[in-house]
Amino acid sequence: MTETSTRDISKAEVERFLYGKHITACPACGRFRSQCDLEVHSISCQRAQSTSLQTASTPVDVLMVVCQNCGAIQFHDRTVVAKWLDCQRRVK
Ligand SMILES: [Zn+2]
Repeated sequence: MTETSTRDISKAEVERFLYGKHITACPACGRFRSQCDLEVHSISCQRAQSTSLQTASTPVDVLMVVCQNCGAIQFHDRTVVAKWLDCQRRVK
């Protein structure tokens, strides 16, 4: 059994997710189309605590997808991507 929530998500998998969701073009410049134009960073951050204390300090794992053509950044929830990839694997 694999740790889906913590394992690394490769760039290829992120691309599969983007294509599967039909997010094939950069919202800013219209590129993304092929694998050469995006960069993927995995980051986790703490939610700001100043405003509400009800959601403890749960770190949020996000994948930052950077368009190498124009530099536009898109964020995708890492757990959502991981879950989607798991579903795809199960279907096949
Ligand atoms: Zn772009």
